[in-house]
Amino acid sequence: MAEQFDVTIIGTGPGGYVCAIRAAQLGLKVAVVEKRASHGGTCLNIGCIPSKALLHASELYYEAGHSFAKMGITAAPSLDLPKMMGFKQEAIDGNTKGIDFLFKKNKVTVFRGTGVIAAPGQVKVGAETIASASIIIATGSDVAKLKGIDIDEKRIVSSTGALALDAVPGHLAVIGAGVIGLELGSVYARLGSRLTVIEYLDRILPGMDAEAAKAFQRMLQKQGFAFKLSSKVTAAAKAKDKVTLSIEPAAGGAAESLEADTVLVAVGRVPYTEGLGLDAVGVARDAKGRIEVDAHYATSVKGIYAIGDVIKGPMLAHKAGDEGVALAEILAGQAGHVNYGVIPGVVYTNPEVAAVGKTEEELKAEGIEYRAGKFLFLANGRAKANQTTEGFVKVLADAQSDRVLGCHIVGPMAGELIHEVAVLMEFGGSAEDLARTCHAHPTLSEAVKEAALTVAGRAIHA
Ligand SMILES: Cc1cc2nc3c(=O)[nH]c(=O)nc-3n(C[C@H](O)[C@H](O)[C@H](O)COP(=O)(O)OP(=O)(O)OC[C@H]3O[C@@H](n4cnc5c(N)ncnc54)[C@H](O)[C@@H]3O)c2cc1C
Repeated sequence: MAEQFDVTIIGTGPGGYVCAIRAAQLGLKVAVVEKRASHGGTCLNIGCIPSKALLHASELYYEAGHSFAKMGITAAPSLDLPKMMGFKQEAIDGNTKGIDFLFKKNKVTVFRGTGVIAAPGQVKVGAETIASASIIIATGSDVAKLKGIDIDEKRIVSSTGALALDAVPGHLAVIGAGVIGLELGSVYARLGSRLTVIEYLDRILPGMDAEAAKAFQRMLQKQGFAFKLSSKVTAAAKAKDKVTLSIEPAAGGAAESLEADTVLVAVGRVPYTEGLGLDAVGVARDAKGRIEVDAHYATSVKGIYAIGDVIKGPMLAHKAGDEGVALAEILAGQAGHVNYGVIPGVVYTNPEVAAVGKTEEELKAEGIEYRAGKFLFLANGRAKANQTTEGFVKVLADAQSDRVLGCHIVGPMAGELIHEVAVLMEFGGSAEDLARTCHAHPTLSEAVKEAALTVAGRAIHA
């Protein structure tokens, strides 16, 4: 007789594991199924956490070689890449073990193996059958492939291979100027690689505020990034220790070739539903392969739900986790909800780029009248003291009501600074609310306050 659960979650990435813990907190009997050896999904094993560990370590290496001297610190750093990879692995292990602990603490039952939905209410894992009132698909996403380019995870790598290179490439070509390409490109540029980023569109960071992306591109160019925009890679030929890429203008035209030691394919991610048995049970997907859900994360089949990268919306860990909480609450009879208008996005480079709410382009397209207040870190005392003055904060507020509609930051600690604006937006706050809130001096956060003051044309330090 199969053990009966209230909820069975397939996949223990940030969507699945957070959902499991919240459901258990609410008194539901919860099972999870995971096929990977450790919990935490893409994010903890081959995504957010390892990339941030390498970004942190490589930034300190670079700073030690380039910025310490001007502060009167003499250092001659040398690189031990295997040890740096060990530091990354410790970050992964520390985080994934934390989930084992949380599952035990919350009495979540773990099944190891590939989960297959045999029927509504039934999940098979190998020879075992789990009976469950609700089934949640949280199987995440996988690397998007590029036609004609064969990822071998050695010379031509995805983000997964890029997180585990055994040597710093002399020349790294990155296909795709999105978040993952620019973050991992940064890691190896700091460690000494020459970097070329090839992007199909005529801009970097598609979807982010254009002014912020443009300013950021200039900063990356100063760091040595070379960009080939409006360009498409059509083929990659591998020789013994080189890869030759064929690159054509996006609009068509003569091809040129580019030789690199390593190629990183970072053209996005696709929903992952392989082997789940969705066709047999009739779970509907859209043209992009994402599982279709209603406002309560219910799929087309009663009793089967989906959250995270496998459904529509930004492919972000915190979006997946918030959906997990909302769905657990809905299943427990509460009013779970995610505010998709206030989901921050961060690029963890140096400087960082962070955004929440609407971009100027979106506001214009929607015909919303707005006022923009921009403040440069150049005029911020703390940034001046630290000599990290590149970038700005831009606050966008409704022209009539002054309600904050978006914020875009390029600059030091942008990924932390963005959150006061996210909280303000959750409460429907105005630029004046932000501007009248006392901010400690000297902090980078004062630049956020000054940007809010600038909305009304009354910044003090500009
Ligand atoms: C290099 C990189 C860096 C990133 N950096 C960030 C970042 O800084 N911030 C951010 O917010 N996001 C980042 N992301 C994105 C983030 O990792 C994802 O948005 C997030 O992991 C999605 O969570 P999820 O729970 O939906 O799915 P996933 O994390 O993909 O987890 C899905 C899990 O389901 C398991 N699974 C799949 N099918 C089955 C099955 N049939 N049976 C059992 N188990 C199954 C998989 O093994 C996996 O463990 C990054 C991604 C990458 C690749």
